[in-house]
Amino acid sequence: MNSSEYFKKAREIMPGGVSSPVRAIQPYPFYTMKGEGSRLFTADGESLLDCCGAYGPLILGHACPPVKDAIRKALDNGWLYGTPTPAEIDLAEILIADFPSIEMVRFVTTGSEATMAAIRLARAYTKKPDIVKIEGGFHGAHDGVLVQAGSGCTTLGQPDSAGIPADVVKHTRQVPYNDPESLVSVLEKNPDSIAAMIMEPVMGNIGPILPKIGYLQEVRKITAEHDVLLIFDEVISGYRVGIGGAQQYYNVTPDITTLGKIIGGGLPLSAFGGKREIMELIAPAGPVYQAGTFSGNPLSLAAGVAALSHIHEMPGMYSALDAATSRIGEACQDKGGSFVKLGSMFKFFFRSSPPENYSQAKESDTIIFRAFWEKMLAKKIFLPPSQFETNFLSLAHSDSDVEYLSSAYASCLSV
Ligand SMILES: *Cc1c(COP(=O)(O)O)cnc(C)c1O
Repeated sequence: MNSSEYFKKAREIMPGGVSSPVRAIQPYPFYTMKGEGSRLFTADGESLLDCCGAYGPLILGHACPPVKDAIRKALDNGWLYGTPTPAEIDLAEILIADFPSIEMVRFVTTGSEATMAAIRLARAYTKKPDIVKIEGGFHGAHDGVLVQAGSGCTTLGQPDSAGIPADVVKHTRQVPYNDPESLVSVLEKNPDSIAAMIMEPVMGNIGPILPKIGYLQEVRKITAEHDVLLIFDEVISGYRVGIGGAQQYYNVTPDITTLGKIIGGGLPLSAFGGKREIMELIAPAGPVYQAGTFSGNPLSLAAGVAALSHIHEMPGMYSALDAATSRIGEACQDKGGSFVKLGSMFKFFFRSSPPENYSQAKESDTIIFRAFWEKMLAKKIFLPPSQFETNFLSLAHSDSDVEYLSSAYASCLSV
């Protein structure tokens, strides 16, 4: 069967034909049979240069040999025990060594679970009910963070999905990114109710959008002054921006950090961590309940340890990736939009200047984006199918891949 036939069948038995909404490319998504290095191989016999990287985890590329070997080795011993395993200590030690703000870790399976638990933990620790998030910020698909942006910094949140009670999202307030004054104003108007501010230090789910100089430091100072915990959602930026994540890159210390994507080496694994005093509230050490059948599953841990160890063995890796996206950026100069990058994350926005927040990002021309995206696909390049999803480069992208990408950008943006 080809992709079109698969999708026709899938649509009958799965809502929208997919397991996650962004994958429902129209008129039909391509179906992947295999991933290797920088490429995806489709059911239609095509080989595509992949700049989606499964939306973030695959910084080492597809089927990276040391990760594959580690999974194979773990597989021989079975794949789920329902007991502790030594590998979770190994991975926890790596995370704690790489993130000075993390003294203790809890492993979960998805990033959504990590942010959900981190918020619950912050509420328990501060004994306060409400949270602040960034307008347009994405922290997974659970009720408290699925709150629509654009409704103004001091208004109560509107749910971003059917099925979420207004009673739930009234506890979620929003402020625009890169706007410390709005944060001060929300915290001053709600002096005793805000438990935590949750944010991606670099907005990875809409671009990327980068912090203005000093913004994250300001947020740290403001939250500390108001006894509000700062949760950095580094599910994308952890090990993507560098070892130690965006908190190390920008030198700002959060109270709680969530990690996911890269830390599982491509298998489902996420985590949250922070100061010992806070983390010891988590069950069974403390009263904040959190649990999961697949938490810390042996295969994901093996993949994660192998991936992070491999990353540690390549100190030049991040600057090489940064140089590669710079080359793509050069090819995008004077093309009527704005190229934004941080290390291996990059995006061309169809907007005259780089967006500083969600409402500016939303001004991008999504119709031109779509036409551009199709032109790139015709050149056998798979970009995430949205103006608002970050492109990712991996270590598996060769010099000639980067060369090819740069010239494809230059020509597809020229018409
Ligand atoms: C992907 C992502 C999540 C959700 O992670 P899942 O594993 O998809 O549940 C949460 N926060 C950020 C910043 C993410 O990029």
